[in-house]
Amino acid sequence: MNMRTDREVVLKLSALTKRFGGLTAVRELDLEVREGEICALVGPNGSGKTTVLNLITGIYPVDGGEIRFLNRPIQGLAPHAICWQGIARTFQNIRVLSQQTVFENVLLGKGYGNGGAGILRTLFGTRGHCREEQQNAREIDEVLEFVGLSNLRGELAGNLPYGKQRILEIARALVTGPKLLLLDEPAAGLNSQEILSLMDLVTRINARGIGVLLIEHRMELVGRLSNWVYVLDHGVKIAEGRFESIKEDPMVIEAYLGRRRV
Ligand code: ADP
Ligand code: MG
Repeated sequence: MNMRTDREVVLKLSALTKRFGGLTAVRELDLEVREGEICALVGPNGSGKTTVLNLITGIYPVDGGEIRFLNRPIQGLAPHAICWQGIARTFQNIRVLSQQTVFENVLLGKGYGNGGAGILRTLFGTRGHCREEQQNAREIDEVLEFVGLSNLRGELAGNLPYGKQRILEIARALVTGPKLLLLDEPAAGLNSQEILSLMDLVTRINARGIGVLLIEHRMELVGRLSNWVYVLDHGVKIAEGRFESIKEDPMVIEAYLGRRRV
């Protein structure tokens, strides 16, 4: 019953390929995230990890292969449409609006989720719209509570310590109500205490039944969080498996030591 293959496939990449000019950034990648999993995507700098997330979320068009989410092909859809299907993400480089409050930053996720409420509609909104606003506010407060940022609700995002800004980005992704969350190096730049909170948060997100695909450099973090690991090197998947076997894999060790890097 505990076999990985017993779980339903949420995200399936088949022979996914992306080229930038002469460079093949992702080459014929097969990857699956199954229900309730935390999968890690690891590999040296420039190995194509972020590109994979950009392909899944519709930021780049794919050059080959297929992306299926909940058994439906999603490649070719616009990023907001992919978000509506239930895929949310954070970015490798932090993207919070520092002059907006914590609450407003999370509200942006709501805007993304419903196509964006027009300013006129906000000012002269109908009663139905007011109800929608109240509903949004309730959901944002729930998410802020869940991630532990309730007490900073009215604070300008730019005043938050870096680690909390990262959590805020996750909150903004969560408010879209995803079934799958893609995290691009969420632990980058965090201190060890912040990393512990992040790990706890990712675990609690996953416990709510949200699948996670996590890009992460630090191997000990990957080992503690993920139940399946994919390793990329120069856009090619060189290994996949449980962390315990991946970390002994000579190809992986070599890629990480950088011997094959030019
Ligand atoms: P990683 O996230 O693993 O560090 P990336 O996916 O960011 O790697 O990059 C993979 C390769 O693709 C790199 O060689 C990078 O320079 C290249 N690349 C990524 N995005 C673009 C782009 N928009 N245009 C041209 N080359 C790109
Ligand atoms: Mg990257």
